[in-house]
Amino acid sequence: MSEQSGRILAEMGITPAWRLRDAARVETSSPEPAPEVLATVEATPAISLTRAGDEISVIVEPASLLPAEPLLEPASAMPAAQAPSGVACMDWPALSEAVSACRACTLCERRKQAVLGVGDVQADWLFVGEGPGADEDERGEPFVGQAGKLLDAMLAAIQLKRGENVYIANAVKCRPPGNRTPEANEIEACRPFLERQIALIRPKLIVALGRPAAQTLIGGEVKIGAARGRLFSYLDVPVIVSYHPAYLLRNLEDKARAWEDLCFAQDQMRRLLTA
Ligand code: SF4
Repeated sequence: MSEQSGRILAEMGITPAWRLRDAARVETSSPEPAPEVLATVEATPAISLTRAGDEISVIVEPASLLPAEPLLEPASAMPAAQAPSGVACMDWPALSEAVSACRACTLCERRKQAVLGVGDVQADWLFVGEGPGADEDERGEPFVGQAGKLLDAMLAAIQLKRGENVYIANAVKCRPPGNRTPEANEIEACRPFLERQIALIRPKLIVALGRPAAQTLIGGEVKIGAARGRLFSYLDVPVIVSYHPAYLLRNLEDKARAWEDLCFAQDQMRRLLTA
């Protein structure tokens, strides 16, 4: 481990020397038993690997095939919010304008500003969080403040940098009051904006940070511990799941698991780039 890597991991709160996993296996030093699906990529129902000579192919099953119960109700069943229309045809300026003016759900009522996202609009990496907090609402950028600093350190740990081949967005674009978890109908109302962002960026890999983001992208009742180390898909883009940086600030013991997830993400990106 280089001196720089050591500093980055120290910033993340991880002090042991870690090494990248073998391509098809996740190792863990956690004293707690790992979830059954965490151990190997082959053991999950979401992905299969085939080898032809030296070439490894990754086959991702659609999220709809995964054995999960639907959590988010259809938007049509939710009277409190109405999804904006015409978003699927918007370019970036139109999308930005539409988000700023959006009043499709009640989160618009107490926001200072809507927060669309930040970064490279042609990025291979898309990180999706939950929703803006107080700092983000103030500054108009996702993941600023302490959670943002930790996310930047996590990115640096795998040689990534905010804005360089990385785009950062949230499931909802307006701050939920009191930083509460967004309601399912708010997520559904805002979904067209996230979907348009994905369509415009065309990332190679999406990292869902935290349970609301994971449930937005995967659907169903998601437990982060069980979803980690698995490959899902959303709009034909591979999705992996990890902890939200704000959660990690409160649960230091899970930072080592977040580091494992980053290594898993890095492995997947390497495979995707060489596929
Ligand atoms: S959270 Fe999304 S859907 Fe709700 S008002 Fe803000 S931009 Fe519109």
